[in-house]
Amino acid sequence: MNTKAYGAHAGDKPLEPIDIQRRAPGPRDVQVEIKYCGICHSDLHTVRSEWPGTKYPCVPGHEIVGHVSAVGGEVKRFKVGDTVGVGCLVGSCQHCASCADGLEQYCENGFVGTYNGPTQDPPGYTFGGYSQRIVVDEKFVLKIRHPEEQLAAVAPLLCAGITTYSPLRHWKVGPGKKVGVVGIGGLGHMGIKLAHAMGAHVVAFTTSESKRKDAHDLGADEVVVSRDPAQMKPHGGSFHFILNTVAASHDLDAFTTLLKRDGTMCLVGAPEHPHPGPNVLVLIIGRKSIAGSFIGGLPETQEMLDFCAEHGIVSDIEMIRIQQIDEAYDRMLKSDVKYRFVIDSATLAQA
Ligand code: NAP
Ligand code: ZN
Repeated sequence: MNTKAYGAHAGDKPLEPIDIQRRAPGPRDVQVEIKYCGICHSDLHTVRSEWPGTKYPCVPGHEIVGHVSAVGGEVKRFKVGDTVGVGCLVGSCQHCASCADGLEQYCENGFVGTYNGPTQDPPGYTFGGYSQRIVVDEKFVLKIRHPEEQLAAVAPLLCAGITTYSPLRHWKVGPGKKVGVVGIGGLGHMGIKLAHAMGAHVVAFTTSESKRKDAHDLGADEVVVSRDPAQMKPHGGSFHFILNTVAASHDLDAFTTLLKRDGTMCLVGAPEHPHPGPNVLVLIIGRKSIAGSFIGGLPETQEMLDFCAEHGIVSDIEMIRIQQIDEAYDRMLKSDVKYRFVIDSATLAQA
């Protein structure tokens, strides 16, 4: 089906209207009319070729919410009219050990990303949520239980929410744990909300003094301007866990020195340029770890959505028209987003 979308034809070109084709729903497919799509920093990294391997034209978008408009004959979990989400994954092999564990993001035969991932649909790779509709295998579609009026603010949970929820759960964040969240952007603001809801003592690290009050309002118990050594020093050796969401190369030692013995800093930010090598002595003396984590599998993404619905958690958003996308990207690069841009997909009709 012909579908209006927004995408780029090269890494140095702005996004512009393009028409794409969506397959007719197969027996196990769900067709979703997209109402809102969040804007992730990964969209920018991909569309501007900051990471290798982008295919053009590139239509980004993996924080998708909307309503089911058609289902295939074998679909059991969804019906027309249901409110649903689609996150970063639309496929995986379904038979490796990771898929069997519900960790499809670590599929040993390669996950299929919602955009720029391999597919049999022409042109051979996937197009994402900056589009009017998407057709997805029901296994990769999520149920949304938030009230309908919160739908736009639910969209960012599909990536920013699960990418922060999964490591917070994996490293058992909860009462009695001192947890740092570094970088208060799309991911970081969700990290603060979720760690707070899990009962941890949350310290937000920001380079933007202007975000101090917001960080407290999001649920941080303490806020530290990370560029100020005098504010950093008192926290030395005190953290059980630090979630680092920064989208740019930076000095990791400034944060590993804040970990307690056996503490872990988990990196989720994936900057274009590598971080300077960490000081291994800081890790050795204290048996500290630097780890990584990648989005989340389908069962945990549903668990996160249900947790957020139960705790009344959504993202803090600024709605934009699709025509404002390049302006939104430029503001994201200046750390000027409070705290996630979301596209009103109805504006695609004017494209
Ligand atoms: P974002 O909204 O742009 O937020 C990033 C934040 O990092 C900024 O708001 C800023 O916060 C801080 N920051 C930016 N430049 C900095 C610098 N030079 N030094 C220190 N801090 C800086 O981005 P996002 O959408 O949250 O994504 C963050 C990163 O995670 C991106 O690299 C993205 O690709 C990656 N990501 C990874 C996964 C995964 O599965 N691992 C999933 C989604 C996204 P302050 O103003 O508070 O300093
Ligand atoms: Zn993302």
